[in-house]
Parts: sequence; C-alpha cells; structure tokens
Amino acid sequence: MTDLLPVREAQERILGVIKSRGSETCKAELAYHRVLAENISSPLALPPFNNSSMDGYAVRSDEISGASSASPVTLPVSLDIPAGYTQQGVLARGTAARILTGAPIPEGADAVIPVEDTDQYKKPQTGPMQTSVSFYKAAKPGDNLRRAGEDVQLGQLVLEKGRRLLPQDVGVLVSLGIREIQVYKKPRIALFSSGDELLLPGQPMAPGKIYDSNTYVLTGLLEDAGAEVIRLGVAHDNPESVKNTLDQVLQNPPDLIVGSAGVSVGAFDYVREVIEANGSLSFWRVNMRPGKPVAFGNYKGIPFIGLPGNPVSAYIGALVFVLPIIRKLHGLPPFTQKVVQAVLDEPLSSPDGRESFYRGVLSKVDGVYHARLTGHQGSGNLFSLVQANALLVVPAGVNRISAGETLSAWILDPELK
Ligand code: AMP
Ligand code: MG
Repeated sequence: MTDLLPVREAQERILGVIKSRGSETCKAELAYHRVLAENISSPLALPPFNNSSMDGYAVRSDEISGASSASPVTLPVSLDIPAGYTQQGVLARGTAARILTGAPIPEGADAVIPVEDTDQYKKPQTGPMQTSVSFYKAAKPGDNLRRAGEDVQLGQLVLEKGRRLLPQDVGVLVSLGIREIQVYKKPRIALFSSGDELLLPGQPMAPGKIYDSNTYVLTGLLEDAGAEVIRLGVAHDNPESVKNTLDQVLQNPPDLIVGSAGVSVGAFDYVREVIEANGSLSFWRVNMRPGKPVAFGNYKGIPFIGLPGNPVSAYIGALVFVLPIIRKLHGLPPFTQKVVQAVLDEPLSSPDGRESFYRGVLSKVDGVYHARLTGHQGSGNLFSLVQANALLVVPAGVNRISAGETLSAWILDPELK
C-alpha cells in the first residue's frame, strides 16, 4: 500500500520536531539515571591521601628487611593510627605504627605489613595497642599502600556529558565532594489509554471487558528510559471524553503525549479525529507489523503519538518511536537499540512485505546466536512477549527468510548473554 510510511521515515519525521529540553541543576547524590549535561573533571585526587589498604603496621621497609617466620624482626610500636585520623603522623625511626585500613600513612613509612604477618594476628585486635610487634615477613616499598591519586588525578575528566548516571557514577561524584551537577531535564510524557472495554486494576471482570494493560507496560518502558510519566487515565470511546482526557495536559504541558488505541479505522476510533480537530496529524499509518496504525501529530501544539491498542503493537511502537524521542529529549543519540545478528532455526514469512517484528527466543550455540519464534504471534497476545527475549526483524520488502539465514534481532532481555 502506497500510503504506508516506511518505519525509518516515520522515525525521522517525529524526531524532526522534537527538541532537546535543555539542562537543570541536580543534587549529585540524587542523580541516579539522570543524563549528564556537562563534563565532570575532578576537583580532588582520589584517594585524597596516601593510606593503608590493610589492617597492620606501617614501617620503613628497610628496617625489617630479612624478617621471616624463622627469624622475626621486632620493633616497638610508637603510634596508633585509626581510620579518620586527622593528624599528620610521623613514624619515629626504628619503630612501627599500628594502622587500620583507610588510615593515613605516617610520614617516613613506606609499607604496611598486614597483621596476619605479625605475632599480633591471633591476639585480640581491638583494645589498646601492644608495646612491640614482631614481623614474620619483609616488605618492599609501596606494599599495601594506596597512593594519593592512584584512582583519580586532580583535574582528570571522570564523567562525560551524555552519560546516564549509574550508582557507581553517583558514588564517584560524592567521593569527589561534588554537590551539584548539570543534567538534562527529565522528559515529561503524558500517557492515556482509550476504549470503553478497559477496566482499571481492581475493578471486577465483566463480560466484554479487559484490563488496561497498556498503561502499565508503557509506564514501565518510559520510566525505565528516564521519563517522568503523567497518567491521564482512560478515555472513553467518544470525542468529548478523548478531548477532556487530553485537555488535562494544558495546565502544565508535557514534552509529548502518548496514547494507545483509537487511532485505527474502527467506527469508535475517535482519537485521530480529536487530534485533527485540535491540532494536526502528520501521519497515521506506518509500514510495519505489528503496529501499522501509529499516528503522529500535535494536540494544541504539544507533540502527540498515538500507538496501536493491541498490547504487543503498543509495546513495539513504543520501542520503535517513543524511546528514540525520550533519548532525543535527553540530548542523547536517538537510536541505541541493542541489535545482534542471529541464525534463524525455522523459516519466517512476512507475506505483505511490511517491516516485521516477530517475538523470538535467542540462544547461543558455539558462540553464535540462534533464533526461533515463540508464543502465538497475534498482536494482542502479551504473554508471547513475556516468553520472548528478542524481536526478530524482517526488513521491509522481504517476504521470506529461510532456516539457516541470518537476520537482525533486537535484544529485549538485558540478562541475555
Ligand atoms: P483499538 O485501537 O481501539 O481498535 O484497539 C485494538 C485492540 O487493542 C482491541 O482489542 C482493544 O481491546 C485492545 N486494547 C486497546 N487498549 C488497550 C489497553 N489499554 N490495554 C489492553 N488492550 C487494549
Ligand atoms: Mg478501541
């Protein structure tokens, strides 16, 4: 059919009207999953001071050379250095300092002997220090020391603009004493479902009704991608209800409105009509399967994307069209879907030549991914998506892929090895 827009063209038309949202200040310790809008260079060295990597005794290594369990070397203990010790200790010649992991190395010391290699090992470790210690092992300069700056040097670039912050990134920011950072504003996406058949969780099942699952699948996908989701609820199958649902956004307009259902050719598909009457529609049919009825336009100037109602189609539509929008709003490159090549273990056909996404299972055999179909491929069958770990992609214009041929697969399961 000539009026079906190719998937890539639809993506590009959408991204063409989406602008990055700019940045805001965020407390570093709350910045999990936010996207950095600046490069972060280190204002400190890490570790900030030379410190011990073991519980033991700081020594001048040349003063215990030759120590062994057969001929231990004994030194008086002149200093006790717990973690958090704030003075610059100085190790007197011919003595050792009891030191704990993370505590500052006293001036003069060049190695730490672990307590396990001394006569103190079997003794109680807590309480006052002993007056002397016998060493069963010698040491080289630098043994069991963590040098200032060995992890991060002063001024070093540690986190780059565009990075989505992981827990360990937040840890580094906090370790560096950084309190505030610039991050991209969180995309705000308003979400609604539509259809008189939809029940909310907790409502009793009734003839002809189904539970609204799209709201929950889409909320999870969008939030995982870093968006804030504003739930508009369920619109009924009449133009007033659709309009009232959409008008909730006008108080504080989001970056995008996402709807599901009501954009096809059914007698009660009013969403498209309401968009056309209160904004404009750029397109509403895409050359893909499942998910042909994908509509894009604006409602009173706010970008709008209408996904199909069938749950698998809505999910795939969100992956193909909405996640790239969220990445662009974040200032990130839009297309980062993880794609691998897989050998097909059974033939696949796509009779009408639309770009097709099949639910499949990938498994690795001798280092090579093999793919087979899973579940019933009907676009309403959400459980088949639960059973899948990948989407197998048949390009537009290809009607058949034989067993043994290779195709692209989008990985859905982050745990997949
Ligand atoms: P429609 O686009 O309104 O024709 O809907 C297509 C199919 O998707 C119908 O079988 C609907 O019942 C189903 N559907 C629509 N919205 C949802 C939803 N939020 N959750 C689950 N199924 C839905
Ligand atoms: Mg409907």
